[in-house]
Amino acid sequence: MTTMTEHLFYKTATELSALLEKKEITSVELTKAFIERTKATDDSVKAFLSYDEADALAQAEASDKRRAEGKPLSALDGVPVSLKDNMAVTGQPHTCASKILEHYVSPYDAHITEQLKKAGVVLWGRLNLDEFAMGSSTENSAFQTTANPWDLERIPGGSSGGSAASLAAGQTPLSLGSDTGGSIRQPASLCGIVGMKPTYGLISRYGLAAFASSLDQIGPFAHTIKDVALLLGIIAGHDRRDSTSYKTEIPNYVEALESKKGPWTIGVPKEYFGEGLDPEVKASVEKAIAFYKDQGCTIKEVSIPKLDLALPTYYIIATAEASSNLARYDGIRYTHRSEDTKNAIDVYFKSREEGFSEEVKRRIILGTYVLSSGYYDAYYLKAQKVRTLIREDFMKAFESCDVLITPTTPTTAFKRGEKSADPLQMYLSDIYTISVNLSGLPGLSLPCGYSSEGLPIGLQLIGKPYEEAELLSIAHAFESAHDYSAKHPEL
Ligand code: GLN
Repeated sequence: MTTMTEHLFYKTATELSALLEKKEITSVELTKAFIERTKATDDSVKAFLSYDEADALAQAEASDKRRAEGKPLSALDGVPVSLKDNMAVTGQPHTCASKILEHYVSPYDAHITEQLKKAGVVLWGRLNLDEFAMGSSTENSAFQTTANPWDLERIPGGSSGGSAASLAAGQTPLSLGSDTGGSIRQPASLCGIVGMKPTYGLISRYGLAAFASSLDQIGPFAHTIKDVALLLGIIAGHDRRDSTSYKTEIPNYVEALESKKGPWTIGVPKEYFGEGLDPEVKASVEKAIAFYKDQGCTIKEVSIPKLDLALPTYYIIATAEASSNLARYDGIRYTHRSEDTKNAIDVYFKSREEGFSEEVKRRIILGTYVLSSGYYDAYYLKAQKVRTLIREDFMKAFESCDVLITPTTPTTAFKRGEKSADPLQMYLSDIYTISVNLSGLPGLSLPCGYSSEGLPIGLQLIGKPYEEAELLSIAHAFESAHDYSAKHPEL
């Protein structure tokens, strides 16, 4: 058993679940393997903001006891899962990678946390992010910059960079992130793993620190589509504490992978293959399209004519909602409070001045501007109308297609510092993902190749609302015929 622990950290959650089920390994051994791996690698990767070894091992012991009694709570009982540090777990830090919440400890569980606890998983560490999930490189964290395990000089993507990098580094077999404009799919793509943003409303946002409420959605990261399906089945479902949570039957996503076989009609939106797309990324995605064609799928060129409006629309709506959501961090209640204050106004102003960093302030200022009287109609209201038009483009494409296929990101992982001085360049990293959030659709990224420099390339598949089962099956068909998920960085 001990020799096996050397290789445990790159096993899929499905494989780990089988080992636990067959009693070939215990959750304590497994959890120790991930703790050791994290300790051995996180000085260079810096994916974790915090973790509590003793607490993780206590959860693992409880899981082993359940399994010994023949009463596992789910297939993932005893398997470690790590969370982006913007999701609430009672008694754990919940910093959102912001100084304003540096010392905040959550007094409650998010809906996803409750679901994970009911499934008996081991809640492992808290993962780094761009402050309040605003960014595409994890360089906006107030505490540390996470590295891409494939090349430590490069960024892992963002904002869920810690969630993606920890998985790619073998520090956790599963993790959760949040995706407002691409923050799960873009880092998954840049780190060579799978990441999914479900349909808006499928997973409760209760206990997720709000960035832009009409766009935010929690979703899984994993090594394989099957692992994503497993985790999604646990966290999806209605919750009355999120008024946008959707009442729908949650299918068995894992079983659905094998039952839905195609052939499918695959739409290729031409606007995603134009200027700014790296030729190596383009070639890999075109190879993936050719694969589906060989499998008997119908490939159809479609158009999302309003795609070029997605980025400006997003940066109006997301900043407007952020400016309102972040008003709660006021220095009065649970946040950082400035010590240099003479009156109540000082408390608000100075606490926020000291607590938020530059990018967050930029968004609050932009958002306050677009919501202010006189500009509301010209910016905010217009952006909402354009948002509807973008969604209509997608729904029209879906009249004749089962799924859309695009690159996830225009380039592979860029170097640290390369775009941090130029917000617009950074914003452009999400050019292919943002419209999916504006339209509320499910989307995922899975590996489809490597560049000549050995950096991962991701494929984005976009599905119809609440058709996650079909979307996962289509991705699974590609994954099963390739061995990208078996490749890992050398650390
Ligand atoms: N990069 C985008 C932004 O900075 C998206 C972030 C996200 O999805 N959380 O807003």
